[in-house]
Amino acid sequence: MGDDKVNENINSEPLLRLLIIEDVPEDAELIRLALEAENISFSCDVVSTEQDCLNHLSSRDYDGVLSDYRLPGFTGLRTFEILKRSGQEIPFILITGSLGEEAAVECIKAGMTDYVLKDRLFRLPTVLQRALKEFESQRREKGAIAKMQQQAWQEAIISRILQAMRGTLVIDDMLQTTAEAIHEALGVSRCLISQTSPNPQASLRCVGYKMPSMPDSAEPPCALHLHYEQDLKHGIQVSCNSVDETLPPEVYQITQACLIESFLITPLLYQNTYLGAISLHQCDSNRVWEQDEMSLLQVVADHCAIAIHQAELYRNAQVELNERKKMEDKLRHDALHDNLTNLPNRALIVDRLHQALQRYHRHAYHSSPQEPKKFAVLFLDLDRFKVINDSLGHAAGDQLLKTVANRLSKSLRAGDSLARLGGDEFVVLIEEVSEVNDAIEVVHRIHQAIEKPILLNGHKVNVGVSIGIVLSEKHYTGPEQLLRDADTAMYRAKSKQRGSYEVFDPSMHTQVMMQLQMENHLRNALESEELAVYYQPIICLKTYQVHGFEALVRWQSPRKGLIMPSDFLPVAEDTGLILAIDLWVLREACRQLKEWQKLSANTKDLFMSINLSGKHFLNSDLISEIDTVLDELDLDPQSLRMELTENILIERTSTAISTLAQIRARGIKVSLDDFGTGYSSLSYLHRFPINTLKIDRSFISQLEADVGNMEIVKAIIDLGLHLGLDIVAEGVETSEQLQFLVDHRCQYGQGFYFSKPLEARAAAKLIRQETPVAEAL
Ligand code: C2E
Ligand code: CA
Ligand code: CA
Repeated sequence: MGDDKVNENINSEPLLRLLIIEDVPEDAELIRLALEAENISFSCDVVSTEQDCLNHLSSRDYDGVLSDYRLPGFTGLRTFEILKRSGQEIPFILITGSLGEEAAVECIKAGMTDYVLKDRLFRLPTVLQRALKEFESQRREKGAIAKMQQQAWQEAIISRILQAMRGTLVIDDMLQTTAEAIHEALGVSRCLISQTSPNPQASLRCVGYKMPSMPDSAEPPCALHLHYEQDLKHGIQVSCNSVDETLPPEVYQITQACLIESFLITPLLYQNTYLGAISLHQCDSNRVWEQDEMSLLQVVADHCAIAIHQAELYRNAQVELNERKKMEDKLRHDALHDNLTNLPNRALIVDRLHQALQRYHRHAYHSSPQEPKKFAVLFLDLDRFKVINDSLGHAAGDQLLKTVANRLSKSLRAGDSLARLGGDEFVVLIEEVSEVNDAIEVVHRIHQAIEKPILLNGHKVNVGVSIGIVLSEKHYTGPEQLLRDADTAMYRAKSKQRGSYEVFDPSMHTQVMMQLQMENHLRNALESEELAVYYQPIICLKTYQVHGFEALVRWQSPRKGLIMPSDFLPVAEDTGLILAIDLWVLREACRQLKEWQKLSANTKDLFMSINLSGKHFLNSDLISEIDTVLDELDLDPQSLRMELTENILIERTSTAISTLAQIRARGIKVSLDDFGTGYSSLSYLHRFPINTLKIDRSFISQLEADVGNMEIVKAIIDLGLHLGLDIVAEGVETSEQLQFLVDHRCQYGQGFYFSKPLEARAAAKLIRQETPVAEAL
């Protein structure tokens, strides 16, 4: 079938173009005739000179060459040489009359297709047809091989590009490596991959590769594809083999600016969404874009679009991940920091203390004879913070804490830690101290920093800070112990003098433990009614009759016997138990008074003096508690006196005045206790609606010893009388003291000279005697 086809082709169509090289016209005619005899349709050129041969083979395409051997000035070998140089791969048949068979065989060996002897020209058609057939099949084979090679080449390029794409998920890197791979595979001057921005407002992103020799043009070359976006969006590749003025002017302008001679632009589409384009520019010469190259680009573009899509997914995931990480970081930060001052909080400082302790112990175990480096913990508590917070408001309080936090940070070294535990409590961890003086130095710096006035809402405010110091010791095993002891030392500093510091020593701890124990016992005492009220009579110095009683609390402990107030009231004050104790005393003493008032006409005017702690006085429930007790017992408020100390009144003037007013409004009297020991300023007395002054015991007991005391007592009595107040002298122990008081018109006295505080039953006996106490003595 193949044979037929070739024959058919040759026979039916005058397609065969032959070049006959023959200097003898008759011989040429014979050749033609021989071919025609076999009905071969052909056209032919006949040449006889070397130059003509060269011209024809370089300017026209032939299907075969029939050449004589002996030619004028050259041979068949030379014509064969010319054919080979022309690049035309067609049969070359030598037609010779004189050449011996042997020489002819040599020619075949040189690469000629075949030979025919002139006297056997009838063979020519067969030889030619066979040669043509052979060449045709060779050509097909070569074509197939070339195609396979082309495919292999394409696949190699694509796989290289895909590999490059897979190498990274970062979009810019991926596009850059892809552009470089395309550039390298196709030998283009420039390969640009432009990506439309997901945000239409943002400019185009464009990565690419250009040959180093290319000049940077003013106009970005990537703008070229923008003019073809309509086509590109529809998946159409745009190509131009040779740039000229027939292009749209704006396109032509870009090609000139960027020295582009040919270009090929391939769209990047992912599921019909236009993502951008791959632009190839040839700048050094015109380039005819082959179909192969165009389809190769198409494939690459499809992969590239997928990769962009994936990279975008990856980037979005990455963004989400980053956001989550940021959120987690913030949560972690918030969990370890105080949100007002942004300082580390308790959890974080506890962790740092823990680490400091571990380091310290490690060194203590391993180290040389020399002492391991210590660290110090400072516990800071602001003085008067609550007062500022209450009076200027919480916003001002917050501002104050921030300012303090700031000043504290600035007064510390870089390696030290500052934390806020909450409220107005701060903790400082000072690393690497050799001795306690190193820590004290820091304390001085802190005091200096804090003591400068702070402007809050236009008010200049002075705050102090009390500081407890503790140094790392081997017996500390946990951060809480360090904080506990630093706190204890701070507490001690505060009770000593505000704005001072104290270094922890173990006796403080023992004391705290005892206090803790005491607190527990006291709580129990309240519940199991171990408290008792003793009554000390207050005597009228004119009649020496019992005028009333002061109620004094006692603790009848089953284990320790009778405990005096000075031994348990400080703990009660600290823990707040004092509120319950005072209330209990109030109720018990009032109940007792009511009972005594019922005894006789003489006792119905007895009064009861009750001590009120500062804490209780400032407690908002106080007034209603008093009302309840008075109501329950149906007691005349006139027979009740409240004893307050001066400093209660001084510290919180406005609250104090209003509470006092409410007490007085009920007809209850008010005594100023321990007068002369506190601020001792007589000037403020008139501001408070009080009824009685109680001159402190210390003046009375020293009356004989010190003339100065006599003057003071005289002055107090004079002042009291002048202001219309009752005067009670406390702690009268001797007749001389009594005499002095009587001489100076003091109205009332209280003291061991008359009676010690008594149990209720003993006190009742005293009332019943109905005799002047002084006489009874
Ligand atoms: P205070 O209010 O100054 O009470 C007078 C104290 O002086 C009483 O001590 C009393 O026993 C003592 N005293 C009276 N006359 C003499 C004397 O001639 N010589 C000497 N050396 N002492 C005398 P007490 O009972 O130990 O009470 C001490 C303090 O405890 C009281 O001082 C008062 O401030 C407080 N207190 C007592 N009971 C209560 C209470 O129920 N509530 C409150 N908040 N405080 C109370
Ligand atoms: Ca008192
Ligand atoms: Ca007193």
